[in-house]
Amino acid sequence: MSLLPILEIPHPILRKKAKRVRSITKKELNLAYNMVDTMREAGGIGLAANQVGELWRIIVLQMPDEEESRIYFNPEIIKTSGSREVEEGCLSLPGYRGIVNRSMWIKFQGLDHTDQIVKFEAENLLSQVLEHEIDHLNGILYTDHLAEHQQLYSVTQEDEEFDEQSVETTESPASIQID
Ligand code: ZN
Repeated sequence: MSLLPILEIPHPILRKKAKRVRSITKKELNLAYNMVDTMREAGGIGLAANQVGELWRIIVLQMPDEEESRIYFNPEIIKTSGSREVEEGCLSLPGYRGIVNRSMWIKFQGLDHTDQIVKFEAENLLSQVLEHEIDHLNGILYTDHLAEHQQLYSVTQEDEEFDEQSVETTESPASIQID
């Protein structure tokens, strides 16, 4: 396992659509496990393959309240409901945050690391991360969802530290760096 470089804007791969994974072999699994290591090292809670320069439909998640990382191949959102404003950041746009609209609730489907189909309903932070990461696979960045340009703002190191603390002590999905 190894750490992969995380691409930042304006790298063109971040704007490309990733291809479906045909079969989950050692190669795809190795990539996913390296993505998990890279995400954890960077302190993110999600990472999409585009962000490490691979155009395959693979995402990894590390939810703050879960011990194990999640790995999904060919992830899809098959249903959404509602809309809410949330704050997001992205490892490919370091130093910025923005307010975007995300669904209240989603129905998700994908393949896990054992090649089994998983389907579940998600809300709160989990649905936000899944929407953010699947957007990446379609070449979409969270800044595409900003209602107004001024809703993107830069954050200082002090703000980052403050936000990390506030995330640990509240259940609010706001003020968290997605990936
Ligand atoms: Zn991102």
